[in-house]
Amino acid sequence: MLYSYELDTGQEGFYEITDMVRDALNKSGTTSGCCLVYCVHTTAGVTINENADPDVVHDLMFALDKTFPDRPEFRHQEGNSAAHLKSSVIGCSVTVPIQDGHLILGTWQGIYFCEFDGPRHRHFAVEIMG
Ligand code: ZN
Repeated sequence: MLYSYELDTGQEGFYEITDMVRDALNKSGTTSGCCLVYCVHTTAGVTINENADPDVVHDLMFALDKTFPDRPEFRHQEGNSAAHLKSSVIGCSVTVPIQDGHLILGTWQGIYFCEFDGPRHRHFAVEIMG
């Protein structure tokens, strides 16, 4: 079953969507299988990382900015090639196993929508496969 979600992002950053993914799982009633979280944008991404200390995702974005700065050599006329690059590096989906009706996430793991070119109106899909 496919569930669609929308998100209004601010500036570049990591936006936790774990509760929205759990919402999709609960609506589906699926108890066993896997869950695909998929972002339909080329300047955003989806990843799993620590949600206990917000400094972790801050540092991830800081390091991505330092590693992939905007460069005068970029040719893409929209001017957001660094955001496209970060999107490809992070990836546009994650898959999480489902067991006994719960997402199998570690104690410190959260699912994040990664905005690399905000603010924007964004969409992502959650496909529950049971
Ligand atoms: Zn572009």
